[in-house]
Amino acid sequence: MPDEMPVFVPHMTGEEFRSLGREVVDLIAEYMMRVERLPVRARSLPGELLGKLPMEPPARGEKWGEILADVERLIVPGLTHWQSPNFFAYFPANGSFPAILGDLLSSGLGVNGMLWATSPAATELETRVLDWLGGMIGLPGEFLSPSGSGGGVIQGTASEATLVALVAARSRAMKRHAPRAATTDLGSRLTLYTSTQAHSSVIKGAMIAGLAAHPEDRRRVRMIETDETFAMKPEALGAAMASDVHAGLVPFFVCATVGTTSSTANDPVEKIGMICQGHDDQPWLHVDAAMSGAACVCPEYRGMLRGIGLADSFCFNPHKWLLTNFDCDCLWTRDRESIINALSVTPEYLRNEASARGEVVDYRDWQIPLGRRFRALKLWFVIRHYGVEGLRAYIREHMRIAAIFEELVRSDARFEVVTPRTVTLVCFRLKARQGEGAEETNARNRALLEAINASGKAMLSHTVLKIGGQEQFVLRMAIGGSGTEERHVRGAWAVVVGLV
Ligand code: PLP
Repeated sequence: MPDEMPVFVPHMTGEEFRSLGREVVDLIAEYMMRVERLPVRARSLPGELLGKLPMEPPARGEKWGEILADVERLIVPGLTHWQSPNFFAYFPANGSFPAILGDLLSSGLGVNGMLWATSPAATELETRVLDWLGGMIGLPGEFLSPSGSGGGVIQGTASEATLVALVAARSRAMKRHAPRAATTDLGSRLTLYTSTQAHSSVIKGAMIAGLAAHPEDRRRVRMIETDETFAMKPEALGAAMASDVHAGLVPFFVCATVGTTSSTANDPVEKIGMICQGHDDQPWLHVDAAMSGAACVCPEYRGMLRGIGLADSFCFNPHKWLLTNFDCDCLWTRDRESIINALSVTPEYLRNEASARGEVVDYRDWQIPLGRRFRALKLWFVIRHYGVEGLRAYIREHMRIAAIFEELVRSDARFEVVTPRTVTLVCFRLKARQGEGAEETNARNRALLEAINASGKAMLSHTVLKIGGQEQFVLRMAIGGSGTEERHVRGAWAVVVGLV
C-alpha cells in the first residue's frame, strides 16, 4: 500500500477487548501474586527507560502481543513496588482487587460526572458513599449531606482538599467582612496558620492562592511551633493570631493535622477549634488526616478526632490506608456554601434545568477541575466487599503488627523509638554511641537506610526531627500496605538488624 493512502485502523472489537482484557487482568493478578518477591525499590538508573524507548511514535498500529510484552520487559523493571508487602516507605498507596475493579468499571462506563445532569448516578452514589464513610469514621451529622449545609466529596489528593478548603475560607472571610473589605484591602491581609510539621501541601496551597510568593515567604503564613510530641502548641497559635490582629492582619484559615507526615503526630483539634471559634474573625479550621483518618473506622481510635465538630472541613485518603486505589481523597465540610461560592462559575454551556432549580449537587463546584471521574464506584466496591467490620479488622491487624515492630525496636539496645507511635508509623534510629557527635549518628542512620533499601528486601523512608535541640535523621517504618502481614514486619526487622 502506498504511504500516502490513509490507514484506517478499526477500533478494537468487543470480542478482542474481552480477550485482551482477560490477559491484562491476569497480568495484574500475577503481578500482585509475585510482587512480594521483587526488589522493592526500582534499580533503574536515570534515563535507563528513556534509552530503551523509541524516539518516534509508531506510524502504524502495533500488535498487542508486543505491547503487553513490553510492559514486562520495559515497565516492570522500572517500578518501585508500592504494592509490595515489604514497602514501608512514605505512607502506603493502598490497593485491592475490588477497588481495581471499580476503577476499571469507571473507565469502562466512561462518564464525566461534572454535573448531576451529566450522570446522576455518579453524583448520587458519591453523596451516599461519602455519607456512609463519614458515618463510619464518626463525623458529626453536620458534615453529612442530610444536614443540608454539609456533605462530602471525593478529591484527587489531600493537597487538593487543602486548597479547596483554603479558597472556601477566603471566600467566607471576604463575604463576612464585605462592607469593610472594599476600603481596607482585606484580601492582602488574610493570614494562614499551620504547624511546622504540617504537610508541604499547605504552603503550596498558599502559594497557589497567592498568599505566599515562595515556600519560605512568611508574610501571611504562620508555621506554629510544636511540642515534644510534634503536635501544634495551641497557646502559640492563639498568641500568633493575637499578634497578627494587632498588626492589622486577619486570621482566616487554620490547618491542623491529625497524623503528620513525618511522625503521625496529632494536633489537638479540640483546643485549636475552640481558639478558632472564640476568635472574632472565626477562621476556617481544616483538619488534614490524610493517613491517620482511616484508623477512625475503629471507634477506639476516634480520640484523635476529639473536637472535630469544631472544624469546618476534614479530609483523609482512603488511597493511603483504606484499600482504595489511588486516587481517592475524601473531603467533608459543614459549610458547603462557602466551597461553592469559592469555586462555582457557570458559563452558558453548563446551564441546565436541574442545576437551576437547585435540587441537585453539582460536584464540579466542590473541586478545582471541571471534569471528574466516577471514583465513587471503587469506594463503593471496597465498602461493600469488606463491610465496616472487615475494614475495622484490616486496620486493627496493622495496628497489632505495628506494635510488634515497635517492640522489636525497643528490645534492641542499639536502637531507639524516637516519637510516640499514634497509628502504624514507627519512627526509630540507631542510638548515638558513647562520645559520638550528632552528625556521625545521623550519617550511620543514613547509611543504614540506604543499605536496607539497596537490599531490595524492604523499603523504608526517612525524616529529620529536632529532638533535644538537635536535628536527628530518623528512619520511618510506615506499616499499612494492603498485603503486609506480621511475617513481613518481622522480616523487615531481620533485614535492619542484619545490616547493623
Ligand atoms: N497531608 C498529609 C498529612 C500527608 O501525610 C500527605 C502525604 O503523605 C499529604 C497531605 C499529601 O497527600 P496527597 O498526595 O494526597 O496530596
